[in-house]
Amino acid sequence: MSLDGTYEHDNIFAKILRGEMPAVRVYEDDHVFAFMDVFPQAKGHVLVIPKHSSARNILEEEPEKLSHLILGVQRMAKAVRAALNPDGVVVTQFNGAPAGQTVYHLHFHIIPRWEGVPMGRHASGGMADMDELKALAQQISAKIA
Ligand code: 5GP
Repeated sequence: MSLDGTYEHDNIFAKILRGEMPAVRVYEDDHVFAFMDVFPQAKGHVLVIPKHSSARNILEEEPEKLSHLILGVQRMAKAVRAALNPDGVVVTQFNGAPAGQTVYHLHFHIIPRWEGVPMGRHASGGMADMDELKALAQQISAKIA
């Protein structure tokens, strides 16, 4: 899907927001929803999405919604750091299929990194163990300021 197009209301993240698909929730407020990536590129890979948005990518988002979203991203990055003590934290965001985007509801990735531990490939890893994801989500949510 290119940068041009229309928001599809049956995308997987829209279904998660409507409760039609399960997700391992980490954090939620009036504006953002954060949950564990089921195909994580590293232990503790979190996705942060706007709750009331039909922006497929960052280019389409309204400034106020984007402001809330990026504050949610920072809050989650801090919580991931506090919970998992990584050596670094990658924050990524892809716009359009040629850039690597595979789900067309605006989102940010928060991926903790440890020295000497390679990061998994984007959107092509194996599915995580659900119990492990739930335990990580609990650890991270306990550190949200
Ligand atoms: P994108 O490629 O659009 O930047 O990122 C989409 C992300 O969503 C990928 O990292 C992928 O692993 C993740 N993902 C795809 N399907 C699901 C799902 O059903 N649940 C969750 N939690 N993550 C998903």
